[in-house]
Amino acid sequence: MSSPDAFDPALHATVAANAARVRDQIASAASRAKRDPTSIRLVAVTKKFPLDHIRAAVGARLVDLGENRVQEALTKIPATTDLPITWHLIGHVQSNKARKAAKAFSWIHSVDSVSLLRRLDQGAQEGDQRPDPLSVLVQVDLASEPTKHGATPDAVLEIFSAARECKGARVRGLMIIPPRSEEPEDVRVFFRRLRTLRDELIDAGVPPEMLEELSMGMSHDFEVAIEEGATIVRVGTALFGRRPA
Ligand SMILES: *Cc1c(COP(=O)(O)O)cnc(C)c1O
Repeated sequence: MSSPDAFDPALHATVAANAARVRDQIASAASRAKRDPTSIRLVAVTKKFPLDHIRAAVGARLVDLGENRVQEALTKIPATTDLPITWHLIGHVQSNKARKAAKAFSWIHSVDSVSLLRRLDQGAQEGDQRPDPLSVLVQVDLASEPTKHGATPDAVLEIFSAARECKGARVRGLMIIPPRSEEPEDVRVFFRRLRTLRDELIDAGVPPEMLEELSMGMSHDFEVAIEEGATIVRVGTALFGRRPA
């Protein structure tokens, strides 16, 4: 066996072919919804995969990469600074890791409380000046699942009020992880509800520039999410295959 980080032409070819297929599916879903496919950002989820997969992703012109654990990402990000990557944190942030996360990532999809937003905002203002503000999404829990993170629709408004005072973090939209289901049509209702929540928040006076993005859809349901208005899809398995245990 070669080193896990050695250049592997077969891996590069597989990821490139998968990326081409996913891009085609994105384009078809966008066209069904009469949307511009270039308005949809594909975040390639590299969690649990080693650095060779990150290099293969970049080789396939995937520039937005997602990780769900701060600790794991903090080993991968410094090892790939030679690559043109925009890093997204898509998993829960513990408050004691918020400042580190704010410095390492460009986007954080999982803000679900005012206190986490404030910590990220502080972290984004410390140390070296960032070229851009930290982009933040508010994770919403529409199913009231006890094990799941995310703010209830009521708490969301409070987070958007606090967002007006942020200097280092810029809130740009909403994110959802719907309840697990094999059948993509089952979760359409959650994607649609996130979009209508966005519209309600704008009606309630939240500045529209804080609500431009809807991060929703994973490997098995991103096409449905795009039909319902996703501007960011988070795709792992369809690009890289099954994750190592
Ligand atoms: C792992 C993960 C994904 C990607 O899941 P796939 O089914 O492999 O595409 C997307 N979003 C979040 C929040 C994740 O944790």
